[in-house]
Amino acid sequence: MQEKLLRAEKLRVISELAASIAHEVRNPLTVVRGFIQLTKESMDERYRRYMNTAIAELDRAEAIIGNYLSFAKPESETAEELHVGEILEGVADVMSAYALMHHVEIKMHTEDGLVILANKANLKQIFINLVKNSIEAMPTGGIIQIGASAPDDEVIIKIFDTGIGMTPEQLERLGEPYYSTKDKGTGLGLMVTQRLVEAMNGTIRFESEVGKGTTVTVSFPLGSNGSLTT
Ligand code: ADP
Ligand code: MG
Repeated sequence: MQEKLLRAEKLRVISELAASIAHEVRNPLTVVRGFIQLTKESMDERYRRYMNTAIAELDRAEAIIGNYLSFAKPESETAEELHVGEILEGVADVMSAYALMHHVEIKMHTEDGLVILANKANLKQIFINLVKNSIEAMPTGGIIQIGASAPDDEVIIKIFDTGIGMTPEQLERLGEPYYSTKDKGTGLGLMVTQRLVEAMNGTIRFESEVGKGTTVTVSFPLGSNGSLTT
């Protein structure tokens, strides 16, 4: 009981902190974006292309921050019908440069026609965080397999990596704010992911073996009309 209260308190503190950091970081990003936009007009074609890439990355940072910030007020988000396969393809696209850098190949096995009702940015964020962890778990490269199916009354998405894996003690601590084993880790990724999954009435489960790899199973319930109940 004590432990549960402590966890709830930690989560409350962290979401407030995340919201204020997000707010503070947003302002300089907006300023930088404005200056790039302004100066790119006087540049030649090649440099203008570089600047467009810079702006796109700034927009991505802004979107990521927006997700952390959204924790403070998850109820204000809109849900729409989303094709799970398309969302996962999109995630693989976003992560492809990062995967390439780490010599990681992403393979997809998704069933057609899986539709759920969810907030698009949040759904993407869940899988971006998971795929990012899988890539980072494979310092010498490897394969990530992403699968999606709907065997019964739920949509099941599995992410399987051939990475370093985790001990039972590590598994136990997943999702704890700031828990990270990485030099540059934040320990926020899985906290965010778990909260997003919970907010969608879903479940998330990790199976892992040191030296072998990790499988993450995310499932979302389907309503009687075949769409997700949120
Ligand atoms: P971060 O990635 O910033 O460290 P996360 O909350 O995303 O924070 O992950 C917390 C920790 O969980 C990681 O530092 C790592 O130790 C462990 N972890 C998460 N996913 C995996 C995975 N696929 N393989 C091995 N370890 C993992
Ligand atoms: Mg992470």
